[in-house]
Amino acid sequence: MQNYDDKQQQTLVIVKPDGVQRGLIGEVIKRYEQCGLKLVAIKMLIPSPELALAHYSTDPEWALKTGTKSLEAAKARGQDLGTNDPIVYAEKIRATLKSFLSSGPVVAMVWQGMGAVAVVRKITGSTEPLSSAPGTIRGDFTIDSYTAADADNRSVRNIIHSSGSVDEAKIEIKLWFKPEEILNYRLISEEIIYDVNLDGILE
Ligand code: ATP
Ligand code: MG
Repeated sequence: MQNYDDKQQQTLVIVKPDGVQRGLIGEVIKRYEQCGLKLVAIKMLIPSPELALAHYSTDPEWALKTGTKSLEAAKARGQDLGTNDPIVYAEKIRATLKSFLSSGPVVAMVWQGMGAVAVVRKITGSTEPLSSAPGTIRGDFTIDSYTAADADNRSVRNIIHSSGSVDEAKIEIKLWFKPEEILNYRLISEEIIYDVNLDGILE
């Protein structure tokens, strides 16, 4: 079996409180599992407000990125968010995320496999349900929009969190899991996914 480095790539997925309440835990797991990724850690918990806040402040660039994305989306739909400063708006989003993520049980997981971060983002779909593509989890199971969320001063309900980059994944996994909670094991299916020779199929 060839030893590609990113074959072992890991990413954090959280089924947020809306996903748990909507009975979508199994559906979400199925979608990541059936694409060939390996589940290496899973737990159900009610996140403390401190954990929820820490989760959305670990990446120093997150505020700028998320604030800018939100302001641009608001501009495109002609809505005034009361500020043009992405950092200020991201702080508002962070406050709503804190109460959203800690409002009830969530399921946190670590998925592993080749290009896991990008593969999971693709299956999850883009942040705003209104514009996430059909076939993605957010596109298929949610109808929320930034406009509706902003009007109610709450987080957009998009069922899943998934790490946005390999660096973000490393920080987030450390925050949610102890090293001993992440399992190191082999799946038989990895032979057909990664083995270049396909040895052992024929008798
Ligand atoms: P996540 O980090 O949850 O996987 P994401 O990476 O697609 O989502 P981010 O830009 O990191 O998107 O935003 C984090 C979360 O903040 C979103 O999932 C959403 O719940 C909430 N959010 C982001 N922008 C807005 C907004 N303009 N209005 C309301 N909620 C928002
Ligand atoms: Mg994100």
